[in-house]
Amino acid sequence: MDTIRPRNIVIVGAGIAGIACALSLSKELTPFVPDLMITVYERHDILSTSGGAINLTPVAQRHLAQLGVLDELDRMGPEGGADVDAIELFSMRSGRPIGSIDFTDHNGNGFGGYKGRRVMRIVLSVAMLTVVERAKNIEIVFGKKVVGGEELEDRSVLHFQDGTEASGDLVIGCDGVHSAVRTQFVDVGRPAEYTGLSFLQATIDTNTLCSPIHFKSSSLNISRHGSILASYCDRDGDQIFAAAIVQFSQDALSRYRLEPGQDWATQHRIRCALREEIRDRFGKTSLPCIREMINSKADWMLYPVYQVRPGGRWSMNRTILLGDAAHAMPPRDESAAYALDDAILFSRILARYRSEPLTEVFDAYESLRRDTINRAFKESRRMWERNRDMGLFEGRLKEWMMSFHIKSHESAREAAWEFDATKMALPTPAPSEDLVSLNSFLRERTL
Ligand SMILES: Cc1cc2nc3c(=O)[nH]c(=O)nc-3n(C[C@H](O)[C@H](O)[C@H](O)COP(=O)(O)OP(=O)(O)OC[C@H]3O[C@@H](n4cnc5c(N)ncnc54)[C@H](O)[C@@H]3O)c2cc1C
Repeated sequence: MDTIRPRNIVIVGAGIAGIACALSLSKELTPFVPDLMITVYERHDILSTSGGAINLTPVAQRHLAQLGVLDELDRMGPEGGADVDAIELFSMRSGRPIGSIDFTDHNGNGFGGYKGRRVMRIVLSVAMLTVVERAKNIEIVFGKKVVGGEELEDRSVLHFQDGTEASGDLVIGCDGVHSAVRTQFVDVGRPAEYTGLSFLQATIDTNTLCSPIHFKSSSLNISRHGSILASYCDRDGDQIFAAAIVQFSQDALSRYRLEPGQDWATQHRIRCALREEIRDRFGKTSLPCIREMINSKADWMLYPVYQVRPGGRWSMNRTILLGDAAHAMPPRDESAAYALDDAILFSRILARYRSEPLTEVFDAYESLRRDTINRAFKESRRMWERNRDMGLFEGRLKEWMMSFHIKSHESAREAAWEFDATKMALPTPAPSEDLVSLNSFLRERTL
């Protein structure tokens, strides 16, 4: 079995997992592998501006700080994201508060120094790429869509849509929920599944709203037809990111999808239909500012939510999947944090097992990660079930249960926010056979 330290590492996907993995590998491996080269291949020609805003939990912020990304976000000023002390929950029916998920303790301090933050995805990507630019051994190549690949004895090879190929001693698939690395060669039988739920997202200028804003920084507004998340996404509160989480049949997806190349009339019809969809579901809310957002001319974009069950194969001999490529769970505020944890833990294990075969590195990583991910996936599924359409009575019950659920999970949530992947104890490589025989020889001699 090959024990050559990987010097030429290829990462597929310049999303959260891919960039975090490149930064973390550079930090952990460079002291041991001076000629290390990490190349990230990304299918988009430029950074994608779609995707709206993302909430970062205290764990995600801690890990972004360790990678140098949080400083970059802070340097961007108000655009670097809105601080989120709590996500307040409200009933859309009655307008009353239901509870809150607090990112601060009783003294107003964040967990381990970090609270929550809501930031536009594009802003987070720019901050991550700025840190990459300072690293000497990371290169990002845009416009390279992976369409296939295979493992040879001494390397893993990727095929791109443009007919070119690239290879590495180690290939890391961080290419998200529809990962080509997973579906084309690591685990061909594991495509992403549609969850039956979708996000309808829009960004609204705060100064276009006349009604009072009922939340401080972030809110989740609950109804029996789904929920609407409304949150500032910049420090000055100039913009509100709104995302409705709703049940949507698979058939309806094709009718509502905006695609490049569609004519103006089709795009206009889809935009109007999506606005109508939102109004039908949430138009009767007692929360004035939500009602105003719903009735505004905002363009709502549809993001179907897919999942990848975590039970399948994550690795081969020279290729491994991290982040959503391995285990996309219906998104919750922690999803990006899991992608960051993956990147940091894998890099630390690779550095510690640097003299071992890659298959042992992969086994050690999976033994550390599988149970956590399986638990998180189940919890995430349970949470998402609550967004399916419900009857009147079930809807009331959901509101009541929600406040109970938030309270009863408070300590588990807060304990999870203290997690630090840079400090987690790692397994140790088994001593090599040579070392074992040397030890027994020495022991026999002293007897
Ligand atoms: C609507 C929505 C809202 C969400 N909100 C939150 C939130 O508030 N908080 C949170 O923590 N998480 C949230 N998530 C989940 C979070 O976005 C993901 O868990 C996280 O982005 C996973 O990171 P990743 O790097 O694994 O995948 P991605 O972020 O999907 O990145 C994958 C990258 O690979 C590239 N790629 C894909 N295919 C190829 C290919 N064939 N060749 C080359 N490159 C390729 C993509 O272009 C992309 O850059 C949300 C998810 C969705 C869908």
